[in-house]
Amino acid sequence: MVYYLCSRLHKFDSSKHLAKKTMVVFSTHRHIPLLLVVDDDSVVRSMLVENLIQEGYDILEAEDGEAALIAFQERKPDMVLLDGLMPNMDGLECCAQLKQLPQGQETPVLIITGLEETTYVDRAFEVGAEDYITKPIHWAVLRQRVRRLLNQSQLNRELKEQNRLLEQAKQVAEAATRAKSSFLAAMSHEIRTPMNGVIGMTGLLLDTELDAQQYEFVNTIRNCGDTLLTLINDILDFSKIESGKLELEQHPFNIRDCIEATLDILAPKAAEQGLELAYFVHKNVPSSIIGDPTRIKQILVNLVGNGLKFTPQGEVIVKITSHLVHEASKNNPAIAPIYEIKFAVSDTGIGIPGDKFDRLFKAFSQVDSSTTRNYGGTGLGLAISRRLVEIMNGKMWVESAEEYGSTFYFTITSQVTPLSYAQPNLKLYSSSCFQNKRLLIVEDNATHRKILKHQARSWGMIPSAVASGVEALRLLELHDHFDLAILDLHMPEMNGLELAQKISQIPRYQHLPLIILSALGVNSADLEKSTVNFAAVLSKPVKQSHLYDALMQILDNQPASDQVRVIPQDILAPAHQLRILLAEDNPVNQKVAIHMLKRIGYQADIAINGAEVLAKLRVSPYDVVLMDLHMPKLDGMEATRRILAEFPPDCRPQIIAMTANAMEGDREECLRAGMNNYITKPVKIEHLVEVLSCCQPLASYPQLVTTPQPQISYAL
Ligand code: ADP
Repeated sequence: MVYYLCSRLHKFDSSKHLAKKTMVVFSTHRHIPLLLVVDDDSVVRSMLVENLIQEGYDILEAEDGEAALIAFQERKPDMVLLDGLMPNMDGLECCAQLKQLPQGQETPVLIITGLEETTYVDRAFEVGAEDYITKPIHWAVLRQRVRRLLNQSQLNRELKEQNRLLEQAKQVAEAATRAKSSFLAAMSHEIRTPMNGVIGMTGLLLDTELDAQQYEFVNTIRNCGDTLLTLINDILDFSKIESGKLELEQHPFNIRDCIEATLDILAPKAAEQGLELAYFVHKNVPSSIIGDPTRIKQILVNLVGNGLKFTPQGEVIVKITSHLVHEASKNNPAIAPIYEIKFAVSDTGIGIPGDKFDRLFKAFSQVDSSTTRNYGGTGLGLAISRRLVEIMNGKMWVESAEEYGSTFYFTITSQVTPLSYAQPNLKLYSSSCFQNKRLLIVEDNATHRKILKHQARSWGMIPSAVASGVEALRLLELHDHFDLAILDLHMPEMNGLELAQKISQIPRYQHLPLIILSALGVNSADLEKSTVNFAAVLSKPVKQSHLYDALMQILDNQPASDQVRVIPQDILAPAHQLRILLAEDNPVNQKVAIHMLKRIGYQADIAINGAEVLAKLRVSPYDVVLMDLHMPKLDGMEATRRILAEFPPDCRPQIIAMTANAMEGDREECLRAGMNNYITKPVKIEHLVEVLSCCQPLASYPQLVTTPQPQISYAL
C-alpha cells in the first residue's frame, strides 16, 4: 500500500544544479516510479506534474534540456517526459544526449510535442524516444502511455536481469563441462598408461610357453584388461555424446565392407561359442553411402557382440535392407538420392522380457541387474548406440520374445555417393558366367542356407539347398547335372569333409568343383589333411565379395582374389627393415613396446624424452620415431616441431604418436604438429603392424654429427 505524507517538488536549475522543491514519497511495499518532467513552459509543466502526482508518481521537474541531463544523472528517474520545442537545447537534442548517458538506453522517453509532421515524429524515434504525444495533451491518453512505457521498461529490466542470470549460469555450466572434459582426458590418459602395461604384457605372455593353468590365469587378466578398456572407451564416448561434443565423419564408404569388418572382429568369438554368424545385404542397398563407418561399425559390434553374448546356441544374423526416401534430382546430377538403410541384428538367444524393454537403452542399466549377474557388461553399449543412431537421423528399437531371441533394429538416413548410383556395383550383382549355373548348397543352418540360396539366385544361378550330407547325396543321384557345390564343414552326422569324399567317389561328379565353408580358425589342420581338392575354402561368416570371387574363379577361371585364402596371412613378417626410435619415458611401456616390436620382427632404440630424441637423431639415422606425447623436459609435440624444423623432409624420420591421449581431437592435434600417424595406448600389436607397414626406410640420411652422444643402454 502506498500513501503520501507530504510532497515537495525538486526543481533543477541548470545554473545552480540545486533542488528548490522536493516531493518525498513514503512507500511501504513497492518502488514508486520517479518521472522527470522537462518543459520550459511552467504552466504546461505544472499541469503535467499535477496530473502525474495524482497518478501516484514521484516527480522531478526541469525547465530546460541542460537541467534535465543533470537531473537525470543525479537521480536516475524511471522515465522522462520531454517537451519537444525548447530554447537552447530542444527536446530531440536532449533526448539524443540522454540516450548516451549511463542507463539512458534503458529509460523510456516520451516526447510531448505540438508538431505532428511525419519527419519530426520519425526524428523523435531516430534519436531514441520510445513514444510521443501531441499537444493539447489528452490527459487520459498521457496516463495510459506513461503506464505502458513504465510497464514495458520494467519488463525489459526483468528480461535483462533474467538473461544476465542465464548467461552467468551458462558460463558456470560451460566451465563445469570444460573441467569435466579435462578431467576425463586426464583420467583417460592416466588409466591408459598402466593399462598399456597390463594388456601389452599379458598379450606377450600369452605368446610364450605356458601350462594350461598359467594360460588360463594370464588369459583372465588379459580379458579383464580388455573389459576395462572397453569400459573406459564407453564412458568417454558417453560423456562426449552427453556434452554434444561428438562429431561424426561424413565421407563415402562401402556398407558391405563396414559389415564385413564388424563380423571379422566377432567371427572368432562366434566360432569359439559354436554359433553361426552370417549377414545378408539386400541387392537394392546402395553399395556406397556417405556417413561415419567407424560409428556404424561401433553400433554393429555392440549389437552383434550382445547377440553372441546372450545366445547360448543357434545363430546371430545381420540383415540390411533399404528404401529410397528422396529421388535423385533429374536436373541436377550433384543432388544424390537419399536412402533409409535398415539394419536388423537377430539372435536365437535368451530374449528380453517385454516389461524390461524400456530400461534397455538407459545408461548403466541391464535387464538382469542382480548382483550375481550371469553376463558381464556395463549397460552402456545400447545407450551409446541409440544416441549415435539418433545423431545419424535414425532410430533404434527392439523386438524380442523370452527364450526365442531378439532382433535389434536401427535405421540411418544417408545420401548415396554419386558414383554408387551412377555405376552400381555390378560386380556384386551379376555376371554372365553365373547365369543358370546349377549350384548345390549343403548347410545344416537354415538361415545360412537361406542366405546362400538367396544370394546365388540374385546372381542368376539356380540353387538347390539341402540341410545334410545324406540329402545332398540323394539329390546328386537324382540330378545328373550340377555345376558346383558349396558344403558346410560342420554338420552333424556327415561333415563337409566326409561328404566331399563321398561326392568325389561318384564317377560323374568326380570333377565337381567344391567350395567348403569353415568356421574361422577351426579344423584348418583337418582341411589340409583332406585328400579332396577343394576349389575354394571360405571362412564363415561368408563374405559376399569372397563368395563372388570364388565363384568367378571357378566358373570363369578368373584369378583368385587375395581375399579368398585358406590360411590367415602371417602378420609377423615385417615388410621392410626399419630403424626405429622409441620415445617413451615410462619403463613399463618401454618394455611393452620393445617386446611387441621384437615380436613382429623389429628392433628399436629408446629415448626417454624429446630432448634425447633430437640428440639421437643427430647422431644416428632413424626411419621411424614412435613418439609418446607426455614426456619430461621436452614433450612429444614440441620434439616433433623441432624435428620438422631441423631435418629436411627427405631425411626426416616418420613420426608416429603412440599415446594415451585418446580424446576427440587428439589425433588431429598430432597430425597438425607434423606427425605422420597416431596410435593409442594400450597399443594393440595389429595396430602397430598396420602403422609400421605404411612406413618406408628413408631415401637419404642426414649429415650426422660425428661425435656420438652418450647412448642410453637398455637390456631386454
Ligand atoms: P551391456 O551388454 O554392456 O550390459 P548394453 O547396453 O549393450 O550393455 O545392454 C544392456 C542390457 O540389455 C544387457 O545387459 C542385457 O541385459 C540386455 N540385452 C542387450 N542385448 C541383448 C540380446 N541380444 N539378448 C538379450 N538381452 C540383451
